Amino acid sequence: MRTWIWIDVSATCNLACELCYTIELQGARKMSVPTFVAVIDRLLSDEIELAGVHLNWRGEPTSNRSLAEMVAHLAAVGLTTALSGTPMAR
Ligand code: SF4
Repeated sequence: MRTWIWIDVSATCNLACELCYTIELQGARKMSVPTFVAVIDRLLSDEIELAGVHLNWRGEPTSNRSLAEMVAHLAAVGLTTALSGTPMAR
């Protein structure tokens, strides 16, 4: 069975929606590229048939300045990327 994995590359969000069910779990942390690559490499070495990776859950993925590098890594290893967000102005 092909599996989608959700990885939170940023634990912070630029909005504060009243109905947000993840807001109490948010923080300032952002995943580093070495950690991201290690996670992907580990998943690829397991017996999981990965279909793709979704790059957010409780946070805004574009707040991680390494997002493009992470997406490029997923493309390089043949994985589909998905994400949703409210892109932050820089
Ligand atoms: S994570 Fe989504 S629902 Fe929660 S505050 Fe951010 S934009 Fe709103």
